Amino acid sequence: MTKYIFVTGGVVSGLGKGITAASLGRLLKSRGLKVAAQKLDPYINVDPGTMSPFQHGEVFVTDDGAETDLDLGHYERFIDEDLNKYSNLTTGKVYWNVLNKERAGEYLGETVQVIPHITNEIKSFIYSVGQKTKADIVITEIGGTTGDIESQPFLEAIRQVAAEVGRRNCLFLHVTLVPFISGSDEPKSKPTQHSVKELRGLGIQPDIIIARVDRPLDESIKAKISLFCNVAPDCVIENRTLPVLYQAPLMLEESHLSDIVCRELAIGAPKGDMSGWYEMLDRIASRKGRVKVALVGKYVKLHDAYLSVAEALQHGGYENGVFVDIDWVDSEELGDSTADKLLSDCDGIIVPGGFGERGIEGMICAANYARVHHIPYFGICLGMQIAVMSFARNVLGYADANSSEFDPNGEHSVIDLMESQQGVSKKGGTMRLGAYPCKIRPGTQMAAAYGEELISERHRHRYEFNNTFREEIEAAGMAISGTSPSGELVETVEIPGNDFYVGVQFHPEFKSRPNRAHPLFKAFIGAAIKRSQNA
Ligand code: GLN
Repeated sequence: MTKYIFVTGGVVSGLGKGITAASLGRLLKSRGLKVAAQKLDPYINVDPGTMSPFQHGEVFVTDDGAETDLDLGHYERFIDEDLNKYSNLTTGKVYWNVLNKERAGEYLGETVQVIPHITNEIKSFIYSVGQKTKADIVITEIGGTTGDIESQPFLEAIRQVAAEVGRRNCLFLHVTLVPFISGSDEPKSKPTQHSVKELRGLGIQPDIIIARVDRPLDESIKAKISLFCNVAPDCVIENRTLPVLYQAPLMLEESHLSDIVCRELAIGAPKGDMSGWYEMLDRIASRKGRVKVALVGKYVKLHDAYLSVAEALQHGGYENGVFVDIDWVDSEELGDSTADKLLSDCDGIIVPGGFGERGIEGMICAANYARVHHIPYFGICLGMQIAVMSFARNVLGYADANSSEFDPNGEHSVIDLMESQQGVSKKGGTMRLGAYPCKIRPGTQMAAAYGEELISERHRHRYEFNNTFREEIEAAGMAISGTSPSGELVETVEIPGNDFYVGVQFHPEFKSRPNRAHPLFKAFIGAAIKRSQNA
């Protein structure tokens, strides 16, 4: 029978609930348990696909094409299990489903209400992930902070799940903050007490409290939290701020988190083997040297907008034994007059995905600068399209070369709307989404990185390389190194004369893991190291 763990957050947002849920997932997986993870988000958007990266950070895409919350990226990186469309639910989606059922007459004349109809919909989603994945344990993170009006139906639904599955089959983990007040030089438990009181008012008694702290939590404060919040003394777990995210599972395990979870859920799984994880942390700790990568984009003021790209760059560093310093370059500040100042001392340039015209010219400038100065270049999705536009402008001499996303009536639309996207006007879930196969041409930089001929990567875009210009572009020296299996769609391009100059229409960052860097990120950082040594 599947068991359920719910992770809620109290006091303030941003305490690392997602990392806590993901770390626990990793620890339980290491004990031989099959773990599934999901996130329930209280906002009204049907999914984060329509939300600005400035507000919500990146949209994480699963193999089956769901546009999801960025915490799912943490789950995949830590737990190393591919997630799916059952892994993220929002209030918007809940109401959408319920209203569709109401219009279809499925409620047979009943008055449709938050309880039980909305909560039933939420519960069936929670149960479905366990059934679909046959997981031993489903970890469900509830977005937002206890006390938010909008998360109440979710909290009510998980209270009901606990009542239905019974004790020993369900566990509540509450992540809170224990601030340290300078001056009086004391850690304070009162905010935690208040947020637990709030939860108890909703019928939820947390079993485990994970206290986020900047310095070690002393025994007296643990005892106080245990007494006032009615949890066992060893169920108050310290959650320190860490220099490397991936240390989190082992730090939580110092307080025996997975032993306690197994005890409370009456699971007889033996202690897990985390030796591979320790080896990875050793590798991370023994990095020497640094490379500087310029990340050129328009959302650089919010680093979460490029979370998976930033993580994958670090993974590339782990695998190559170097620190990767990311220089966040605002593409709107980049142009011919500033390129030298902003880019000349970097060892690699990456242009990630994006939408809309703002900042495009700066990205085109970066792609050209990398090509001319032989700086390793890695273009992802929009970054690949930028590489093609930049090549068409500067090598083919088409000064107006563009994507029809930005210039719908241009003469040289080297990037054009995909055929399958013609006439699509609805937003949300309508792009080319999810995993597609790609055939790699032997002898290319792509082939060297992957060492395979057929790969599968995740997509999220509407525009694509325009085949009208294919011959011309190839003849001028930009190689088409990867296509859809039929050869029809151009999925990757590169410049053979450069050490690493690769543009990919897909998003490799989603499949990178801390203990298994994505081959393209590994190769890109490898090329950056070479450049830093020769520069
Ligand atoms: N805006 C571009 C497109 O829709 C690129 C999308 C992306 O980078 N994810 O094709």
